[in-house]
Amino acid sequence: MFDLNKLVRENIKSLTPYSSARDEFSGEAKVFLDANENALGSPLTKWYNRYPDPHQVKVKEALSVVKSVEASKIFLGNGSDECVDLLYRCFCNPGKDNVIICPPTYGMYEVSANINDIEIKKAPLLDDFQLDLVHLENLVNENTKLIWICSPNNPTANSMNREDVETILNNFNGLVVVDEAYINFSRQKSFIQELKDYPNLVVLQTFSKAWGLAGLRLGMAFASEEIIEILNRVKPPYNVNQVTQELALKALEEVGQVNDMIKELVQMRVALKGVFEKIPFVKKVYPSDANFLLVKVDNAKEIYHYLLTRGIVVRDRSNVQLCENCLRITVGTEEENTELIEAMADWFVANKPVNA
Ligand SMILES: *Cc1c(COP(=O)(O)O)cnc(C)c1O
Repeated sequence: MFDLNKLVRENIKSLTPYSSARDEFSGEAKVFLDANENALGSPLTKWYNRYPDPHQVKVKEALSVVKSVEASKIFLGNGSDECVDLLYRCFCNPGKDNVIICPPTYGMYEVSANINDIEIKKAPLLDDFQLDLVHLENLVNENTKLIWICSPNNPTANSMNREDVETILNNFNGLVVVDEAYINFSRQKSFIQELKDYPNLVVLQTFSKAWGLAGLRLGMAFASEEIIEILNRVKPPYNVNQVTQELALKALEEVGQVNDMIKELVQMRVALKGVFEKIPFVKKVYPSDANFLLVKVDNAKEIYHYLLTRGIVVRDRSNVQLCENCLRITVGTEEENTELIEAMADWFVANKPVNA
């Protein structure tokens, strides 16, 4: 049976969280002399001299409507990367516990584990980039605290089979973290609505991709109130700054505009896939549920460097297991995509086998 109490680190359970000035007084007042702020203002037209809301209440209320989930089940971090780090710090004992990842996948799960001195166990994806449930199950032991599932996955671009994720949720007594950074580009529906069925589920999303706000650094975790409460105890008091909160609130009023961008990006992804598939040195364009394409080519390194000479940067994933000779290419603007295609065509002409 799932028992959250057994998962939380002892030092976190017994922690007295930092109590900020904003925590100790949150009522109405006109003179705030409790936080050692500069009452004279900021050297800017708009002032940022006051500490931001440590609990980001307004952003969570707006998000609660957009995502159809209670505000109490939302945690906001300085990027999803902060959520990843906090999950380790709340639930994994350094030098003792382990987590499972399914490579090739997002690099931060492993880097953050290394920083926190948590052992990583690997159940690589199968050849079709789906989860290897048998391998996963064999890796689990009594110190396994988290299983990371990235869906749609970076860099393979596919979504994981929903039934496989459900099987893991139903059979694993630790936390199952489903990273949905690319969910808005996917045909799959989010796992957020399944939170009521799975006390061990944590869903990560971000403002960095579909929302077009990577520069703001705002990540979301959705989970049971109990899990969110633990993350809140450990987070730095003012982890989401005032500017980010204000602008996120504004962006949340523009869901329609975001949906339009998502539609356009998905259309361009489909078109780009079609064009890539006609280029002779492209061996395979993998199905994508994200805003990028994983493209297998003849010689990834050479093409990568050629594109650089044309001022175009893509991600060389050719050293990654199961991604041999693959480039990860983000969908750009119409003009950027055209520029990329022209460069690829030029490379082909220059490197064409003599008899082709
Ligand atoms: C881009 C990405 C994120 C986003 O991280 P932020 O810190 O929120 O910018 C998270 N997970 C995956 C798999 C990603 O590719």
